Amino acid sequence: MRILIVEDDAALANGLRRILESEGYAVDVMPKGEQAVAAAQREHVDLMIVDVGLPGMDGFEVVRRLRAAGQALPVLVLTARDALDDRVHGLDLGADDYMPKPFALPELAARVRALIRRSGAQTGPRIVHGPLVVDTVARRAFLHGEPLLLAAREWAVLEVLLARVEKIVSKDAIIQAVANWGEELSPNAIEVYVSRLRAKLEPAGVRIRTVRGFGYMLEDYKAA
Ligand code: CA
Repeated sequence: MRILIVEDDAALANGLRRILESEGYAVDVMPKGEQAVAAAQREHVDLMIVDVGLPGMDGFEVVRRLRAAGQALPVLVLTARDALDDRVHGLDLGADDYMPKPFALPELAARVRALIRRSGAQTGPRIVHGPLVVDTVARRAFLHGEPLLLAAREWAVLEVLLARVEKIVSKDAIIQAVANWGEELSPNAIEVYVSRLRAKLEPAGVRIRTVRGFGYMLEDYKAA
């Protein structure tokens, strides 16, 4: 799941990025509305967080242009506190939710989960794969009923593989899903995440097969 944050306040943007990355999302930050509108047309974005106050094109105009271009992705607008007109205006333009500043980061993360759930961007809230159960909304995984701790990147790789069980997923497709734009993530890095995932999953019989020179495949689970 890719989230694009459009916010010129670097400290706030980084705080948002950190909490969302810790939940396993691939996060990009852009300080300008023009950039964000262009990026959403060029790349797949699952959700956008847009501050109203931006240099140049403001957040309202970003939402207006996205909707005018037929982009249906969920958009959460960050507004100034008590600016009721801003909230109404943002929702009128097609934003899905708003968050008045200042806000607590965990609350924002909860809103993001709710928006993603409502958007139906995920196949279902719970994925069961043999002894592995993944709650995609709460972003928690369990193996044989025990909490399974996954680093954010491991989580992202697992999510891609789980969406395509018994289908070969190319390393490029995994990089796409996991990397942030402008970040060089090598196929070797993907190998590292996959091998960490394997170390956690294979003792339980959940297997990730290497398809040499191409990518990986999460095998159908067969009880031993
Ligand atoms: Ca701002």
